Amino acid sequence: MNVRTRFAPSPTGYMHIGGVRTALYAWLYARKHSGSFILRIEDTDKEREVEGSIGHIMESLRWLGLQWDEGPDIGGFHEPYVQSARLPIYQAYAQKLIASGFAYTDPYTPDELEELRQKAEMEKRPFLFREHRPEQSEEWDGTKPLRFRTPFLKRYSWNDLVRGELSAGEEALDDFILIKSDGYPTYNFAHVVDDIEMQITHVTRGEEFISSTPKFLSLYDAFELPPPAFATLPPILSEEGKKKLSKRDGAKDILDYRAEGYLPEAFVNFLALLGWNPGTEQEYFTSEELIQAFDFDKVNKSGAHFNEEKLLSVNQYWLRQLSSGEFTVQGNFTSPDPERFSKTVPLLKERAHTFGEAREMLTGELACIFTQPVLTEEMLLLKEPGEAAGFTRTTLTNLLPFIKESDGKTIEEIKVAIMSVADENPKEKGGRGAVLWPLRYGLSGQERSPDPFSLIYILGSAGSELRIRAALDILGG
Ligand code: GLU
Repeated sequence: MNVRTRFAPSPTGYMHIGGVRTALYAWLYARKHSGSFILRIEDTDKEREVEGSIGHIMESLRWLGLQWDEGPDIGGFHEPYVQSARLPIYQAYAQKLIASGFAYTDPYTPDELEELRQKAEMEKRPFLFREHRPEQSEEWDGTKPLRFRTPFLKRYSWNDLVRGELSAGEEALDDFILIKSDGYPTYNFAHVVDDIEMQITHVTRGEEFISSTPKFLSLYDAFELPPPAFATLPPILSEEGKKKLSKRDGAKDILDYRAEGYLPEAFVNFLALLGWNPGTEQEYFTSEELIQAFDFDKVNKSGAHFNEEKLLSVNQYWLRQLSSGEFTVQGNFTSPDPERFSKTVPLLKERAHTFGEAREMLTGELACIFTQPVLTEEMLLLKEPGEAAGFTRTTLTNLLPFIKESDGKTIEEIKVAIMSVADENPKEKGGRGAVLWPLRYGLSGQERSPDPFSLIYILGSAGSELRIRAALDILGG
C-alpha cells in the first residue's frame, strides 16, 4: 500500500504541542513507509480564522523538519490544499449524494430548528435531526443547508490502530449538515471528501473525534468507499494531573520554544516520546531513528503527561552533541572574540539547557569572560590570612609564571599546576582557599564564576596575566 498521511490544521491561531505531535506522528508513519505526508488547511470556518496562521503553521513544521510532500505552497497532484479553494469539489460530492438519495435540503428556518431543539431539551431527550426529517424536500439551490440522509442506522465498529476495537451505536448518527447556507462545507463533510480525494490511507488525530467517527463511516458507506485507517492519539495532560494542558504548562506557541533556544531535534525527540513508547530503554532518538522505531501499536492509549524537566534535559543532551561551531551558529551567537567564545562553549554546554539559558549566562555568571572585571580591594582580600595584603600580593605574583606557561595546556593540566601551589599552602595561612580565591576573583571580578583553571584556559595567558596584574595594581604591588 502506498501510505499517505495528512496533517489538517485549521488556521485558528498558533501551533501548540498537541498539533505538532499529531503532525509528527503522521510524518513519522509516512516516512517509515516511504509514503507521502500531506499538509491540508481546513479553513471552512471563516469566523474562527486568524490571520497569519497558515504561515505560522508552515513555519512551525519547517522548524521541526516535518517537511510535507504536498501542500498549499508546493501544490501536488490533488491541489488545491486549502479547503476554501476546493468548494467546487465539495459541491460535486454533494451532488453525488443528492443523486443517490443521501442528501436533502434542510426545510427549517433557524428559529424553527431552535424550537425543535428546545422542545427536545424540555422533554429531556437528545435532539436528533433525523427524527424531524421531512417526507419530501425542495430541490437544493444552495441557499439553505444541505443535510446528509444518514443511510444505515446501525452500530458501527472499527479498528483503531491505537485503541483497538471501538464501536458506537445509532445515537452517534444523525442527519448532519454537509454544506452550510453560506456555501461552505462542514468539517464533517469536507474532511471526508478530502481524505477520499487525496487518497489518505491513515488518519491521525485526537480522541475528540472518536464520537463522530460513525458519522464519517456512514459517509464512506454512502459513497461506497472504504474508510482510511484511524489512529487516535492520547491527550496531552498537564504535569500535575488529569486536567488538559494549560497555557502555563506548555500549551504555548511552538515557535516560542524556538525563541527560547530549544533545538528542533530535541523538540522532536521529546514530542515523539509524549505518547509513544519505543519499548526499549532508549531515550534519545534522531529523526532517522524515530522513523525506524515508530509505529502506532506503541502509541499509548492513555494521556501523556507534559514534563518540562524532561524537555529541558532532552534539549541539553542535544545541545551537548553540537560542536562549538554548530553551537555558535545554531544559537545565533555573535562575539567580538570568536576564539574566546569557542573556548567558552564547553562551559555553556555543561551548564545550559537551552540557548536562552546560555545567553543569560553570558550576561551573568560568564560575563566576566568578555568584559574586563572591575575589582575591589575588599573582595580581593576576603581570604587574606595576614594583614595589609602582603600574603595575597605574594601569592598572585607567584602564580604568574604558571599563568604565563598555560597556553596550549588543557584545563586539567592548568589545574594540576595551580593546585600544586594551592595545596602547599598551610592551613594556618588559609589553605588552598587563600590561594584560589584571589586568583579566581582577580580573573573574574565575580563572587560566583567558573573555576580559575577554566578561566585561565579561556582567557589565555596574556588575557589572564593582564587581569592578575590589574589585581596586583589594586594591592599596590
Ligand atoms: N481541522 C481539524 C482540526 O484542526 C482536523 C481534524 C482531523 O485531523 O481530521 O482539529
